Amino acid sequence: MLDPRSIVFILAALSLLMAIVLSAMPSAVRDRQQGARHWSASMLCVALAAVLYGLRGMVPESLSMVVANASAMGATALIYYGGRAFFEQRRHGRQLIIALLLANLGLIYCFYVQDLYAIRVVIFSSVSGVLLFLFGLDVLRHRPRDTGRAQFPYLFTAITVIFDALVSLARIINAVLNPSGGSDFLAPTPLNALYFSTHGLLAICISVGFILMLNERLHAMLEHQLSHDPLTNAYSRPMIFELAQRELSTLRQPLSLLLLDIDHFKQVNDNLGHQGGDEVLKHFVRTLTAKLRSNEPLGRYGGEEFIILLRDVDAESARITAERLRQCVAEAPYRHSQSDYPITTSIGHATAYAQESLEQLLQRADTALYRAKREGRNRVEQA
Ligand code: GH3
Ligand code: MG
Ligand code: MG
Repeated sequence: MLDPRSIVFILAALSLLMAIVLSAMPSAVRDRQQGARHWSASMLCVALAAVLYGLRGMVPESLSMVVANASAMGATALIYYGGRAFFEQRRHGRQLIIALLLANLGLIYCFYVQDLYAIRVVIFSSVSGVLLFLFGLDVLRHRPRDTGRAQFPYLFTAITVIFDALVSLARIINAVLNPSGGSDFLAPTPLNALYFSTHGLLAICISVGFILMLNERLHAMLEHQLSHDPLTNAYSRPMIFELAQRELSTLRQPLSLLLLDIDHFKQVNDNLGHQGGDEVLKHFVRTLTAKLRSNEPLGRYGGEEFIILLRDVDAESARITAERLRQCVAEAPYRHSQSDYPITTSIGHATAYAQESLEQLLQRADTALYRAKREGRNRVEQA
Protein backbone atom coordinates (compact mmCIF):
# COMPACT_ATOMS: atom_id res chain seq x y z
CA MET A 1 0.00 0.00 0.00
CA LEU A 2 1.22 3.53 -0.76
CA ASP A 3 2.15 5.55 2.29
CA PRO A 4 0.08 8.71 2.91
CA ARG A 5 3.00 11.00 2.03
CA SER A 6 3.30 9.54 -1.49
CA ILE A 7 -0.46 9.74 -1.95
CA VAL A 8 -0.38 13.39 -0.89
CA PHE A 9 2.33 14.21 -3.47
CA ILE A 10 0.44 12.38 -6.24
CA LEU A 11 -2.65 14.35 -5.24
CA ALA A 12 -0.63 17.59 -5.43
CA ALA A 13 0.58 16.79 -8.96
CA LEU A 14 -2.89 15.80 -10.17
CA SER A 15 -4.54 18.87 -8.65
CA LEU A 16 -1.96 21.11 -10.30
CA LEU A 17 -2.70 19.38 -13.59
CA MET A 18 -6.45 19.92 -13.13
CA ALA A 19 -5.85 23.60 -12.26
CA ILE A 20 -3.90 23.95 -15.52
CA VAL A 21 -6.62 22.15 -17.51
CA LEU A 22 -9.31 24.37 -15.97
CA SER A 23 -7.42 27.60 -16.60
CA ALA A 24 -6.48 26.49 -20.12
CA MET A 25 -10.13 26.18 -21.15
CA PRO A 26 -11.06 28.34 -24.15
CA SER A 27 -11.63 31.98 -23.23
CA ALA A 28 -15.26 31.57 -24.35
CA VAL A 29 -15.70 29.23 -21.40
CA ARG A 30 -13.65 31.18 -18.88
CA ASP A 31 -14.94 34.64 -19.68
CA ARG A 32 -18.56 33.82 -20.24
CA GLN A 33 -19.07 31.32 -17.49
CA GLN A 34 -18.77 32.53 -13.96
CA GLY A 35 -17.11 30.07 -11.64
CA ALA A 36 -14.46 28.58 -13.93
CA ARG A 37 -11.70 30.79 -12.49
CA HIS A 38 -12.67 30.02 -8.90
CA TRP A 39 -12.65 26.30 -9.55
CA SER A 40 -9.26 26.56 -11.22
CA ALA A 41 -7.96 28.50 -8.19
CA SER A 42 -9.48 25.89 -5.87
CA MET A 43 -7.39 23.16 -7.51
CA LEU A 44 -4.26 25.32 -7.08
CA CYS A 45 -5.12 25.61 -3.38
CA VAL A 46 -5.55 21.82 -3.15
CA ALA A 47 -2.13 21.37 -4.82
CA LEU A 48 -0.47 23.87 -2.47
CA ALA A 49 -2.07 22.30 0.60
CA ALA A 50 -1.06 18.81 -0.52
CA VAL A 51 2.58 19.83 -1.11
CA LEU A 52 2.76 21.48 2.31
CA TYR A 53 1.13 18.49 4.04
CA GLY A 54 3.57 16.23 2.25
CA LEU A 55 6.52 18.31 3.47
CA ARG A 56 5.44 17.99 7.08
CA GLY A 57 8.49 17.55 9.27
CA MET A 58 10.71 19.13 6.64
CA VAL A 59 9.30 22.65 6.70
CA PRO A 60 8.16 24.80 9.67
CA GLU A 61 4.80 23.84 11.11
CA SER A 62 3.45 27.29 10.36
CA LEU A 63 3.62 26.18 6.71
CA SER A 64 2.78 22.48 6.91
CA MET A 65 -0.05 23.10 9.34
CA VAL A 66 -1.38 26.68 9.38
CA VAL A 67 -0.91 27.59 5.70
CA ALA A 68 -1.74 24.07 4.49
CA ASN A 69 -5.02 23.94 6.40
CA ALA A 70 -5.94 27.47 5.35
CA SER A 71 -5.25 26.55 1.75
CA ALA A 72 -7.25 23.31 1.92
CA MET A 73 -10.26 25.02 3.51
CA GLY A 74 -9.86 27.90 1.06
CA ALA A 75 -10.14 25.33 -1.73
CA THR A 76 -13.54 24.14 -0.53
CA ALA A 77 -14.66 27.76 -0.10
CA LEU A 78 -13.62 28.50 -3.69
CA ILE A 79 -15.49 25.42 -4.91
CA TYR A 80 -18.63 26.59 -3.13
CA TYR A 81 -18.16 30.22 -4.22
CA GLY A 82 -17.48 29.16 -7.83
CA GLY A 83 -20.69 27.12 -7.75
CA ARG A 84 -22.71 30.11 -6.54
CA ALA A 85 -21.18 32.18 -9.36
CA PHE A 86 -21.71 29.45 -11.96
CA PHE A 87 -25.39 29.11 -11.07
CA GLU A 88 -25.79 32.89 -10.71
CA GLN A 89 -26.79 32.77 -7.06
CA ARG A 90 -25.98 35.14 -4.20
CA ARG A 91 -22.38 34.40 -3.29
CA HIS A 92 -22.11 35.12 0.44
CA GLY A 93 -18.45 36.20 0.01
CA ARG A 94 -18.25 38.10 3.30
CA GLN A 95 -19.80 35.29 5.37
CA LEU A 96 -17.39 32.83 3.75
CA ILE A 97 -14.35 34.92 4.64
CA ILE A 98 -15.55 35.32 8.25
CA ALA A 99 -16.20 31.56 8.56
CA LEU A 100 -12.74 30.79 7.15
CA LEU A 101 -11.04 33.30 9.47
CA LEU A 102 -12.78 31.90 12.55
CA ALA A 103 -12.02 28.31 11.52
CA ASN A 104 -8.34 29.14 10.96
CA LEU A 105 -8.10 30.96 14.30
CA GLY A 106 -9.69 27.91 15.94
CA LEU A 107 -7.14 25.62 14.28
CA ILE A 108 -4.24 27.85 15.35
CA TYR A 109 -5.54 27.92 18.93
CA CYS A 110 -5.93 24.14 19.01
CA PHE A 111 -2.40 23.75 17.72
CA TYR A 112 -0.24 26.40 19.37
CA VAL A 113 -2.15 27.16 22.58
CA GLN A 114 -3.47 23.70 23.36
CA ASP A 115 -2.71 20.62 21.34
CA LEU A 116 -6.22 19.37 20.57
CA TYR A 117 -5.95 17.15 17.52
CA ALA A 118 -9.54 15.85 17.62
CA ILE A 119 -10.98 19.39 17.80
CA ARG A 120 -8.76 20.41 14.87
CA VAL A 121 -10.15 17.52 12.82
CA VAL A 122 -13.71 18.51 13.79
CA ILE A 123 -13.18 22.18 12.83
CA PHE A 124 -11.40 21.40 9.57
CA SER A 125 -13.69 18.60 8.43
CA SER A 126 -16.91 20.41 9.37
CA VAL A 127 -15.98 23.53 7.39
CA SER A 128 -14.84 21.53 4.34
CA GLY A 129 -17.68 19.03 4.62
CA VAL A 130 -20.42 21.64 5.00
CA LEU A 131 -19.11 23.74 2.09
CA LEU A 132 -18.86 20.71 -0.19
CA PHE A 133 -22.29 19.49 0.87
CA LEU A 134 -23.83 22.91 0.18
CA PHE A 135 -22.11 23.01 -3.20
CA GLY A 136 -23.50 19.55 -3.99
CA LEU A 137 -26.99 20.73 -3.06
CA ASP A 138 -26.57 23.81 -5.28
CA VAL A 139 -25.58 21.62 -8.22
CA LEU A 140 -28.64 19.42 -7.69
CA ARG A 141 -31.00 22.33 -7.14
CA HIS A 142 -29.85 24.62 -9.93
CA ARG A 143 -28.91 22.12 -12.61
CA PRO A 144 -30.63 22.85 -15.93
CA ARG A 145 -33.89 20.94 -16.32
CA ASP A 146 -34.72 21.93 -19.91
CA THR A 147 -35.24 19.05 -22.27
CA GLY A 148 -32.17 18.29 -24.31
CA ARG A 149 -29.77 19.34 -21.54
CA ALA A 150 -27.49 16.54 -20.31
CA GLN A 151 -27.94 15.65 -16.64
CA PHE A 152 -24.86 13.48 -16.24
CA PRO A 153 -22.26 16.26 -15.58
CA TYR A 154 -24.38 17.70 -12.78
CA LEU A 155 -25.32 14.39 -11.15
CA PHE A 156 -21.72 13.18 -11.38
CA THR A 157 -20.42 16.35 -9.68
CA ALA A 158 -23.14 16.44 -7.04
CA ILE A 159 -22.73 12.77 -6.10
CA THR A 160 -18.94 13.13 -5.95
CA VAL A 161 -18.94 16.18 -3.68
CA ILE A 162 -21.64 14.81 -1.41
CA PHE A 163 -19.65 11.60 -1.10
CA ASP A 164 -16.58 13.70 -0.26
CA ALA A 165 -18.60 15.54 2.39
CA LEU A 166 -19.56 12.15 3.85
CA VAL A 167 -15.86 11.21 4.05
CA SER A 168 -15.36 14.39 6.10
CA LEU A 169 -18.28 13.36 8.31
CA ALA A 170 -16.70 9.92 8.82
CA ARG A 171 -13.48 11.66 9.84
CA ILE A 172 -15.34 13.82 12.36
CA ILE A 173 -17.07 10.77 13.87
CA ASN A 174 -13.76 8.94 14.06
CA ALA A 175 -12.10 11.92 15.79
CA VAL A 176 -14.96 12.26 18.28
CA LEU A 177 -15.07 8.53 19.10
CA ASN A 178 -11.30 8.26 19.22
CA PRO A 179 -10.09 11.68 20.45
CA SER A 180 -6.69 10.43 21.60
CA GLY A 181 -6.03 8.90 18.16
CA GLY A 182 -2.64 9.58 16.61
CA SER A 183 -2.22 13.18 15.63
CA ASP A 184 0.24 12.36 12.86
CA PHE A 185 -2.03 12.13 9.86
CA LEU A 186 0.91 11.12 7.68
CA ALA A 187 1.51 8.00 9.77
CA PRO A 188 1.20 5.00 7.45
CA THR A 189 -2.00 3.65 8.96
CA PRO A 190 -4.72 2.08 6.78
CA LEU A 191 -7.20 4.77 7.88
CA ASN A 192 -4.87 7.60 6.86
CA ALA A 193 -4.14 5.93 3.54
CA LEU A 194 -7.88 5.40 2.97
CA TYR A 195 -8.65 8.97 3.93
CA PHE A 196 -6.05 10.53 1.65
CA SER A 197 -6.70 8.25 -1.33
CA THR A 198 -10.47 8.84 -1.11
CA HIS A 199 -10.07 12.59 -0.73
CA GLY A 200 -7.44 12.69 -3.46
CA LEU A 201 -9.49 10.66 -5.90
CA LEU A 202 -12.58 12.70 -5.11
CA ALA A 203 -10.72 16.01 -5.59
CA ILE A 204 -9.78 14.86 -9.09
CA CYS A 205 -13.32 13.61 -9.78
CA ILE A 206 -14.73 16.96 -8.64
CA SER A 207 -12.52 18.87 -11.05
CA VAL A 208 -13.53 16.48 -13.82
CA GLY A 209 -17.09 17.35 -12.81
CA PHE A 210 -16.28 21.07 -13.23
CA ILE A 211 -14.98 20.44 -16.74
CA LEU A 212 -18.03 18.35 -17.62
CA MET A 213 -20.42 21.05 -16.35
CA LEU A 214 -18.54 23.87 -18.09
CA ASN A 215 -18.52 21.90 -21.35
CA GLU A 216 -22.19 21.02 -21.08
CA ARG A 217 -23.09 24.65 -20.59
CA LEU A 218 -20.84 25.80 -23.44
CA HIS A 219 -22.42 23.19 -25.69
CA ALA A 220 -25.93 24.35 -24.69
CA MET A 221 -24.94 28.00 -25.28
CA LEU A 222 -23.57 27.26 -28.75
CA GLU A 223 -26.58 25.15 -29.64
CA HIS A 224 -28.87 27.95 -28.50
CA GLN A 225 -26.95 30.50 -30.57
CA LEU A 226 -27.20 28.31 -33.64
CA SER A 227 -30.89 27.61 -33.25
CA HIS A 228 -32.13 31.03 -32.08
CA ASP A 229 -32.32 34.51 -33.52
CA PRO A 230 -30.00 36.70 -31.44
CA LEU A 231 -32.28 39.77 -31.48
CA THR A 232 -35.67 38.30 -30.67
CA ASN A 233 -34.73 34.87 -29.28
CA ALA A 234 -37.30 33.29 -31.61
CA TYR A 235 -36.01 30.22 -33.50
CA SER A 236 -33.55 31.08 -36.23
CA ARG A 237 -34.56 30.68 -39.86
CA PRO A 238 -32.58 27.42 -40.38
CA MET A 239 -34.02 25.98 -37.17
CA ILE A 240 -37.67 26.75 -37.92
CA PHE A 241 -37.13 25.31 -41.42
CA GLU A 242 -35.61 22.18 -39.90
CA LEU A 243 -38.55 21.81 -37.50
CA ALA A 244 -41.03 22.26 -40.34
CA GLN A 245 -39.09 19.84 -42.56
CA ARG A 246 -39.09 17.26 -39.77
CA GLU A 247 -42.86 17.58 -39.36
CA LEU A 248 -43.49 17.37 -43.09
CA SER A 249 -41.34 14.27 -43.56
CA THR A 250 -43.34 12.39 -40.93
CA LEU A 251 -46.65 13.95 -41.80
CA ARG A 252 -49.42 11.87 -40.32
CA GLN A 253 -51.41 14.70 -38.78
CA PRO A 254 -52.18 18.03 -40.44
CA LEU A 255 -49.46 20.68 -40.12
CA SER A 256 -50.44 24.34 -40.38
CA LEU A 257 -47.98 27.13 -41.04
CA LEU A 258 -48.65 30.76 -40.12
CA LEU A 259 -46.65 33.48 -41.85
CA LEU A 260 -46.78 36.78 -39.97
CA ASP A 261 -45.55 40.15 -41.20
CA ILE A 262 -45.64 43.31 -39.09
CA ASP A 263 -47.62 46.03 -40.84
CA HIS A 264 -45.87 49.20 -41.99
CA PHE A 265 -42.70 48.29 -40.20
CA LYS A 266 -40.70 50.73 -42.27
CA GLN A 267 -42.77 53.49 -40.68
CA VAL A 268 -42.01 52.04 -37.24
CA ASN A 269 -38.31 52.41 -38.04
CA ASP A 270 -38.87 55.89 -39.39
CA ASN A 271 -40.78 56.97 -36.28
CA LEU A 272 -38.83 55.20 -33.54
CA GLY A 273 -35.42 54.77 -35.16
CA HIS A 274 -33.75 51.47 -36.00
CA GLN A 275 -33.17 50.66 -32.32
CA GLY A 276 -36.80 51.41 -31.55
CA GLY A 277 -37.69 49.05 -34.42
CA ASP A 278 -35.53 46.35 -32.83
CA GLU A 279 -37.37 46.83 -29.55
CA VAL A 280 -40.70 46.50 -31.35
CA LEU A 281 -39.51 43.21 -32.88
CA LYS A 282 -38.64 41.90 -29.41
CA HIS A 283 -41.95 43.13 -28.04
CA PHE A 284 -43.79 41.44 -30.92
CA VAL A 285 -42.09 38.10 -30.22
CA ARG A 286 -42.71 38.39 -26.47
CA THR A 287 -46.40 39.07 -27.09
CA LEU A 288 -46.71 36.02 -29.34
CA THR A 289 -44.61 33.73 -27.16
CA ALA A 290 -46.84 34.47 -24.18
CA LYS A 291 -49.78 33.12 -26.17
CA LEU A 292 -48.09 30.09 -27.75
CA ARG A 293 -47.66 26.64 -26.27
CA SER A 294 -44.27 24.94 -26.14
CA ASN A 295 -45.24 22.70 -29.06
CA GLU A 296 -46.05 25.72 -31.25
CA PRO A 297 -42.61 26.93 -32.38
CA LEU A 298 -42.11 30.52 -33.50
CA GLY A 299 -39.21 31.37 -35.82
CA ARG A 300 -37.88 34.49 -37.49
CA TYR A 301 -38.19 34.06 -41.23
CA GLY A 302 -36.31 37.32 -41.87
CA GLY A 303 -36.70 41.06 -41.13
CA GLU A 304 -40.14 41.55 -39.59
CA GLU A 305 -41.54 38.26 -40.87
CA PHE A 306 -42.12 35.27 -38.62
CA ILE A 307 -43.33 31.67 -38.94
CA ILE A 308 -45.42 29.71 -36.47
CA LEU A 309 -45.88 25.96 -36.84
CA LEU A 310 -49.08 24.37 -35.56
CA ARG A 311 -48.82 20.60 -35.36
CA ASP A 312 -51.90 18.48 -35.60
CA VAL A 313 -53.97 21.56 -36.43
CA ASP A 314 -56.34 21.68 -39.42
CA ALA A 315 -57.08 24.76 -41.52
CA GLU A 316 -60.11 25.87 -39.52
CA SER A 317 -58.32 25.63 -36.13
CA ALA A 318 -55.31 27.39 -37.67
CA ARG A 319 -57.57 30.25 -38.74
CA ILE A 320 -58.94 30.57 -35.20
CA THR A 321 -55.43 30.57 -33.70
CA ALA A 322 -54.17 33.09 -36.28
CA GLU A 323 -57.12 35.37 -35.57
CA ARG A 324 -56.48 35.12 -31.82
CA LEU A 325 -52.81 35.99 -32.30
CA ARG A 326 -53.57 38.90 -34.63
CA GLN A 327 -55.94 40.30 -32.04
CA CYS A 328 -53.39 39.87 -29.20
CA VAL A 329 -50.78 41.82 -31.15
CA ALA A 330 -53.26 44.60 -31.94
CA GLU A 331 -54.26 44.79 -28.28
CA ALA A 332 -50.68 44.93 -26.98
CA PRO A 333 -49.21 48.22 -28.24
CA TYR A 334 -45.51 48.89 -27.76
CA ARG A 335 -44.95 51.23 -24.82
CA HIS A 336 -42.63 54.04 -25.87
CA SER A 337 -41.84 57.28 -23.97
CA GLN A 338 -44.94 56.85 -21.85
CA SER A 339 -47.26 56.52 -24.80
CA ASP A 340 -48.61 53.51 -26.66
CA TYR A 341 -47.37 52.81 -30.15
CA PRO A 342 -49.88 50.53 -31.94
CA ILE A 343 -48.53 47.46 -33.73
CA THR A 344 -50.52 45.27 -36.07
CA THR A 345 -49.68 42.19 -38.05
CA SER A 346 -51.03 40.51 -41.16
CA ILE A 347 -51.10 36.72 -41.24
CA GLY A 348 -51.27 34.25 -44.10
CA HIS A 349 -51.73 30.60 -43.22
CA ALA A 350 -51.64 27.31 -45.08
CA THR A 351 -52.21 23.71 -44.03
CA ALA A 352 -49.97 21.09 -45.63
CA TYR A 353 -51.44 18.33 -47.69
CA ALA A 354 -49.75 14.98 -48.23
CA GLN A 355 -46.41 15.08 -50.09
CA GLU A 356 -46.32 18.87 -50.06
CA SER A 357 -42.83 20.36 -49.84
CA LEU A 358 -41.92 23.14 -47.42
CA GLU A 359 -41.30 25.50 -50.34
CA GLN A 360 -44.81 24.87 -51.67
CA LEU A 361 -46.38 25.29 -48.25
CA LEU A 362 -44.48 28.54 -47.65
CA GLN A 363 -45.38 29.79 -51.10
CA ARG A 364 -49.08 29.27 -50.39
CA ALA A 365 -48.84 30.98 -46.98
CA ASP A 366 -46.97 33.87 -48.63
CA THR A 367 -49.69 34.27 -51.25
CA ALA A 368 -52.29 34.39 -48.47
CA LEU A 369 -50.17 36.95 -46.59
CA TYR A 370 -49.90 39.08 -49.70
CA ARG A 371 -53.69 39.01 -49.97
CA ALA A 372 -54.03 40.06 -46.29
CA LYS A 373 -51.74 43.04 -47.02
CA ARG A 374 -53.60 43.98 -50.17
CA GLU A 375 -56.98 43.81 -48.44
CA GLY A 376 -56.03 46.36 -45.82
CA ARG A 377 -53.55 44.68 -43.36
CA ASN A 378 -54.20 43.69 -39.72
CA ARG A 379 -56.09 40.65 -41.00
CA VAL A 380 -55.82 36.90 -41.48
CA GLU A 381 -56.05 35.16 -44.85
CA GLN A 382 -56.10 31.46 -45.61
CA ALA A 383 -54.35 29.79 -48.56
P1 GH3 B 1 -45.94 46.05 -44.99
O1 GH3 B 1 -47.07 46.48 -44.13
O2 GH3 B 1 -46.32 45.97 -46.43
O3 GH3 B 1 -45.32 44.81 -44.52
O4 GH3 B 1 -44.87 47.22 -44.90
P2 GH3 B 1 -43.47 47.16 -44.19
O5 GH3 B 1 -42.96 48.55 -44.09
O6 GH3 B 1 -43.61 46.43 -42.92
O7 GH3 B 1 -42.65 46.23 -45.14
P3 GH3 B 1 -41.26 46.24 -45.83
O8 GH3 B 1 -40.93 44.83 -46.11
O9 GH3 B 1 -41.26 47.19 -46.99
O10 GH3 B 1 -40.25 46.81 -44.76
C1 GH3 B 1 -39.69 46.01 -43.78
C2 GH3 B 1 -38.69 46.86 -43.05
O11 GH3 B 1 -38.17 46.13 -41.94
C3 GH3 B 1 -37.49 47.21 -43.89
C4 GH3 B 1 -36.29 46.98 -43.00
O12 GH3 B 1 -35.51 48.13 -42.88
C5 GH3 B 1 -36.89 46.65 -41.66
N1 GH3 B 1 -36.14 45.65 -40.95
C6 GH3 B 1 -35.78 44.41 -41.35
N2 GH3 B 1 -35.07 43.78 -40.38
C7 GH3 B 1 -34.99 44.65 -39.35
C8 GH3 B 1 -34.38 44.58 -38.06
O13 GH3 B 1 -33.78 43.59 -37.64
N3 GH3 B 1 -34.49 45.66 -37.26
C9 GH3 B 1 -35.14 46.79 -37.67
N4 GH3 B 1 -35.22 47.81 -36.82
N5 GH3 B 1 -35.71 46.88 -38.87
C10 GH3 B 1 -35.64 45.84 -39.70
MG1 MG C 1 -41.97 42.18 -44.83
MG1 MG D 1 -44.09 44.35 -42.95
